[in-house]
Amino acid sequence: MSFESLGLRAELCRAVSEKGYTTPTSIQQQSIPLILEGRDIMGGAQTGTGKTASFTLPVLQRLMEHGEPKTKASKVRALILTPTRELAAQVAHSVADYGQNLPLSSFVIFGGVNINPQKQKLRKGVDILVATPGRLLDHVSQNTVDLSSVEILVLDEADRMLDMGFIRDIRKLLAILPKQKQTLLFSATFSKEIKQLSTSLLSNPALIEVARQNTTAELVTQVVHPVDKKRKRELLSFLIGSNDWKQVLVFTRTKHGANKLSEQLNKDGITAAAIHGNKSQGARTKALASFKSNDIRVLVATDIAARGLDIDQLPHVVNFELPNVPEDYVHRIGRTGRAGSSGEAMSLVCVDELKLLKGIEHLINSNIPKVTFEGYEPDPSIKPEPIRNGRNNPRPQKKSPRSNNSSARNRPSSKPAERSSRSKSNNSKPSKRPDNFGNR
Ligand code: AMP
Repeated sequence: MSFESLGLRAELCRAVSEKGYTTPTSIQQQSIPLILEGRDIMGGAQTGTGKTASFTLPVLQRLMEHGEPKTKASKVRALILTPTRELAAQVAHSVADYGQNLPLSSFVIFGGVNINPQKQKLRKGVDILVATPGRLLDHVSQNTVDLSSVEILVLDEADRMLDMGFIRDIRKLLAILPKQKQTLLFSATFSKEIKQLSTSLLSNPALIEVARQNTTAELVTQVVHPVDKKRKRELLSFLIGSNDWKQVLVFTRTKHGANKLSEQLNKDGITAAAIHGNKSQGARTKALASFKSNDIRVLVATDIAARGLDIDQLPHVVNFELPNVPEDYVHRIGRTGRAGSSGEAMSLVCVDELKLLKGIEHLINSNIPKVTFEGYEPDPSIKPEPIRNGRNNPRPQKKSPRSNNSSARNRPSSKPAERSSRSKSNNSKPSKRPDNFGNR
């Protein structure tokens, strides 16, 4: 199977071959021909499956086939909505790369940066606009973007957009867009809300799924290391140091937790940076670049910030804290084992998080192996404490975030309880004795 055989024009095939792709991925094989036919799509795919190219390539081709727009050049012809700035920037890169041999223009807009240069660029006209919903609505309200000629709408990572509370913004945008258009919706998970949105949005969509719904990436080895909350940082430093890991993505539940952990790791002599919604766009970009170029070993991220990050062949992902929402586990470990390479995802789980772990195992329909490290065995006398804003303590619904860094999910959880810490062992290895951590 080749890109040519999917019906893509020579300029696009040349562009993908320059990127080094020889064979279309499964989602690309399925969706490209259908999108070229003009079908609406409901695509179930995680990042790492090649989904960006699966919609970008046929969108570029459709715009070429539709010919020059009859309308003024300042009108947007294809609109791609993404939940986060990082994903928007990445998708825009892909659009530019794949479209490099075509006379189509593209541009990306997101919040957290000056709006004026964006206005100037939009005034000049752009065929393909990649945007986060909040900033796009800002432009709509200031009349600096014209969406009346959108021929194709793509909702990328729609589940995350709903999780982040963008539904009202999306509905406002849908009301402005032309009724007659092709719509492509991509989502890693198909919740009830996504299904509801898709029925109001898509017309006779083709359903494409590349991995079984709500499953974790197949090449990822998963393991849970039971450990007391107070000793997680020690165990993480030990794991990184003793295995000599060079590039580790670590997830925390909160922005505060990400900052604190990154500071502590730096103190331990492990170079680290935190990436989350309270950081400026410049700081986020810089942290990501240092991580990609191996200048720092650890990137500590919150769920929202890490969404959609494309870091090639990331070998290690560590859940320093389990996510409040089980679906986020699937997204997190989707950062490793990407595009055919294998990866390792480990979760440091304390007694407070056992309910969250159960929820995750239920979602992925399998038990994650538990390996306890000698010297880091959890203290059985410690009683679980509630995790505020966790699944059992639903957070209050936000009205409309309008900003990509204002996610309810990233609010600090309850203060860590003071607990007695057990003595540290420096020669820890996985204990062979079976443990019943998961059965409690
Ligand atoms: P995505 O799921 O769009 O985030 O893509 C994941 C990664 O796979 C990106 O680094 C892409 O550049 C890469 N990729 C996309 N399509 C292919 C392909 N057909 N062959 C090899 N790599 C690909």
